[in-house]
Amino acid sequence: PSANVGVVGLAVMGANLARNLASREGNRVAVYNRSPERTRTLVSAHPEAGFVATESVADFAAALTRPRTAIIMVQAGKATDAVISELADAFEPGDIIIDGGNAQYTDTIRRELELRQRGLHFVGAGISGGEEGALNGPSIMPGGSAESYETVGPIFRSIAARAEEDGEPCVTHVGTDGAGHFVKMVHNGIEYADMQLIAEAFDLLRRGAGFEPAEIAEIFAEWNTGELESYLIEITAEVLRQVDARTGRPFVDVVLDQAGQKGTGTWTVQAALSLGTPISGIAEAVFARGLSSHPEQRLAGAHLEGPGSPIALEDRDAFVEDVRQALYASKIIAYSQGFDVIRTAASQYGWHIDSGAVAKIWRAGCIIRARFLGRIAEAYQADPSLVSLVTAPFFSEAAGRAQQAWRRVVSTAALSGVPAPGFSSSLAYYDALRAPRLPASLIQAQRDFFGAHTYRRIDGPGVFHTEWSGDRSETQTGE
Ligand code: NDP
Repeated sequence: PSANVGVVGLAVMGANLARNLASREGNRVAVYNRSPERTRTLVSAHPEAGFVATESVADFAAALTRPRTAIIMVQAGKATDAVISELADAFEPGDIIIDGGNAQYTDTIRRELELRQRGLHFVGAGISGGEEGALNGPSIMPGGSAESYETVGPIFRSIAARAEEDGEPCVTHVGTDGAGHFVKMVHNGIEYADMQLIAEAFDLLRRGAGFEPAEIAEIFAEWNTGELESYLIEITAEVLRQVDARTGRPFVDVVLDQAGQKGTGTWTVQAALSLGTPISGIAEAVFARGLSSHPEQRLAGAHLEGPGSPIALEDRDAFVEDVRQALYASKIIAYSQGFDVIRTAASQYGWHIDSGAVAKIWRAGCIIRARFLGRIAEAYQADPSLVSLVTAPFFSEAAGRAQQAWRRVVSTAALSGVPAPGFSSSLAYYDALRAPRLPASLIQAQRDFFGAHTYRRIDGPGVFHTEWSGDRSETQTGE
């Protein structure tokens, strides 16, 4: 055997990851794909990589030094299970199987347990950054045993993106079993929220303030020099500058306004619902894509009455600055909620996730990479038990500075009939966190009225019920 790492599944992601691995000092990469043509094509196109080509699982296993380390990059679901099963049969105790696909974290938990019982290590690694990231440096979120990370860590560090600020590789041992895939899923959920907030800012500037896409491109480019600096803001400016070659119109105007999705946003919201963690910003983003993709409902709704003419803005520059601040504040809420769901899942599954380390590995290589993530890492380093990111000094001050503008933007959106579910739900969340009392008291009273669900009192311990249909006396029903 001569290869220290292998890749199974040589479609675009696997091939690029294999090439990335091969280009790094110290790695020798064995490759295997179910259909051998793919292996032959890759190996002949990239002689410089020095791949060890194999055409059977047995040969693949024989090519790897112990502990064998193989990264699977095939379709999530049944295909991944099939490949894991074949590798597990050919590998020996102590060997390491890594799933680099977009698996459901619950599948990863199940697979890890099954392989652990057979003496094998299973690492569920979220890999973000798409094809380009796989080739030039992704952000990697591995979950698995600490023992396997001793082998896997140096391999991943050799290929991960590096943060501009300090050159640190964007990979950390996230936690055990499903932790890595969970964090990758939440990364995607946050990506949905980020994109939705940017889209709302665009819509307000376009329809609210009447700017042309090319002008908004310049606004975004300007925003990208400040606290909003991020990959998504940068590419938004590029997209808005683009002119359609066929019609000469702004490109954004000729794209059908129905957003697609592949499921990770929905998974994030489903997980948050099960964990009882409000991630309203991410949920609104998933729902907004859903609403956009129901043309029959939108057609039926097109005649619903609105505010008539768009509202007249007195000062367009001031409005642009307000929108920037509303975007920043809403973004803080989306990330705060995203880290909340990671924290609650970590405690539910015993993952011990270091939120600051997660923020750090998102600084480069992945879609949500941004300057902002360095600040999040600092906030968690300063206070690892932080219960809500927005309450950390840096972020509470930033949200506090933005809140007046945020309120003006949300009210302008409502008055002008421009939907801004991300901005408005984030503001509602912020105000709910601040509220000295919530009307949950009334909800508890209602629940006790119709279902005898009981309530607690503010003035002492105990669980109580009022005889609503009788004499309305109160009885204590528990401690
Ligand atoms: P695909 O998801 O299209 O999967 C194709 C690969 O799966 C081929 O190598 C194919 O082999 C193999 N395969 C499918 N079924 C089986 C099976 N039953 N047994 C063995 N092999 C099988 O490839 P991608 O490169 O697009 O993606 C790979 C993984 O990476 C996926 O999990 C995907 O979700 C994830 N991904 C992640 C991205 C990111 O940004 N992180 C972006 C894109 C993908 P064959 O050639 O024989 O058909």
